[in-house]
Amino acid sequence: MTELEDFAARLKTLTDGRASAPRVKDGVMSLALDVAGLSSEQREAVSAAIREGALTVPGVSDVRIAMTAERSAGDRAPEKKGPEKKGPVRIIAVASGKGGVGKSTLSANLAVALQRLGVRVGLVDADIYGPSQARLMASEDRKPQAKDKQLIPVQSPFGIPMLSMAHLVEPGKALAWRGPMAGNALAQLIDADWGETELLVVDMPPGTGDVQLSMVQKHKPAGAVIVSTPQDLALIDATRAVSLFAQTHVPMIGLVENMAGYACPHCGELSDPFGQGGAEAAAGEMGMPFLGRIPLAIEIRRRSDAGDPPAAGDDAHGAAFRVIAEKVAAWLKGNPR
Ligand code: ADP
Repeated sequence: MTELEDFAARLKTLTDGRASAPRVKDGVMSLALDVAGLSSEQREAVSAAIREGALTVPGVSDVRIAMTAERSAGDRAPEKKGPEKKGPVRIIAVASGKGGVGKSTLSANLAVALQRLGVRVGLVDADIYGPSQARLMASEDRKPQAKDKQLIPVQSPFGIPMLSMAHLVEPGKALAWRGPMAGNALAQLIDADWGETELLVVDMPPGTGDVQLSMVQKHKPAGAVIVSTPQDLALIDATRAVSLFAQTHVPMIGLVENMAGYACPHCGELSDPFGQGGAEAAAGEMGMPFLGRIPLAIEIRRRSDAGDPPAAGDDAHGAAFRVIAEKVAAWLKGNPR
């Protein structure tokens, strides 16, 4: 038994099965801890014990614990339950008018932040031409199973079930799919066996073409979140994404401004090379709520690349994603099916 396996086994006892399997990358151990029903003192005590134990594993120099409010199905012995009526899973589409604005980063972190608020969330990477969720959520090594021609999502280390084209095709294989084929591939991911999942965050392909339009018409998201950067050009693109949803009668949850201001990695001070408040004003002009701003920060890119979503933490970046997730959760409550 390796020291990590040994620790994983001890972790089960230590946390009464509340922790996911630990994962170590670049000296950082990450795991999800279900804190449902624990007082804040108990949470602190359990995390301190995990931290202490984790740091004794050779090669581990830092520990990241994502506290979640829900036990994920795969991580605990199944409990006996009566038949439960499951409604169809609700979808929120995360979209942008163009690529590179942080739509995937927001989708991953929104899913993590929503899960921490107690929402049973799943994640679909609908960006079939440039899938990045498997990397963002540290699940590249997992392969989905299929049952009766239906895919079974993989579990990310954060206890969030998810599916991405990256789980189905070999890395680096360019997908030259067009129109209907792309739509079918996407439908397979969305129509998978999502089990107890109540909400799917769908990372849409960038842009506003046919694939996006048919996805929206076919899967009828409950609402849409638009991501934009502060630059005017991206905002013009954002209005295009807004009209795609207006045209298909999908309600707008709101606009997120990403890369808003630059957070100095040394002192944390925010500067605003593109000016402040443009996206908020644009949201107002378009008559849609403004959900929040995420700064351009090296730490966000670094942690995202390392499969360690900032929303799993409690620092300023984690808090910024949490604010957005709270607004999305409130919107969902206010707009029941
Ligand atoms: P999209 O899905 O819109 O194409 P991504 O989420 O893939 O965009 O982001 C593009 C690049 O920008 C990625 O390298 C990502 O890590 C980085 N990025 C996204 N948001 C931020 C941010 N707030 N601060 C720093 N880097 C960011």
